[in-house]
Amino acid sequence: MGRRPCLYFRPRAGMAELVDAADSKSVALKRRVGSIPSPGTNKSMNFCSNCGSPIVLKVPDGDFLPRHVCEKCGVIHYLNPKIVVGSVPEFEGRILLCKRGIEPRLGFWTIPAGFMENDETLEAGAAREAREEALIDVEIGSLLLLANVTHARQVHVFFRSRMRTPNFGVTHESLEVRLLDERDIPWGDLAFPSTEFALRRFVEDRAKGVERHHVAEMQRRIN
Ligand code: ZN
Repeated sequence: MGRRPCLYFRPRAGMAELVDAADSKSVALKRRVGSIPSPGTNKSMNFCSNCGSPIVLKVPDGDFLPRHVCEKCGVIHYLNPKIVVGSVPEFEGRILLCKRGIEPRLGFWTIPAGFMENDETLEAGAAREAREEALIDVEIGSLLLLANVTHARQVHVFFRSRMRTPNFGVTHESLEVRLLDERDIPWGDLAFPSTEFALRRFVEDRAKGVERHHVAEMQRRIN
């Protein structure tokens, strides 16, 4: 197999703007530990984590896409989409939102959500994110949204959730946390397309007294 240039992994101008909610965690982590790989970009991997040799991009035999391959030890480092998990927390009819304290979309409002961790379920991940980002104790309810966010190489999985107590607080990731009446949702200042989609479906379904799950494809944010 030759090392032909591959469009899939070619860096594009403005790539940093294509990331979505999930990158909040990697940005926060980067601040703590220095440079870390950014999944899915062709700058993400220079050296083999198994043996330390330089990585090349090539289509392995029998494969159909270029991969990060170590030609010394033979390990193929696959990069696959990340799962972002979260919930729309509710307490006595009000909805909890967080104002982002980190880039991207610093200062915009979102629901508690972030990267799913290894060795946890979707529900456990959603509850953990609620705890980490808003200091709330939630009972995870029905599935609200499965969002394909292909441009960010992510899948977003959002549930409905109920706060067991009205207690909440600000964390290092949030400038502000608020329990809002539906009419006070800052529709023009939401962080991500999947945030808005989830909230709109949440309030629509609630008005009808139903709890449906929705599957959608998110487009890149234009503004
Ligand atoms: Zn290697």
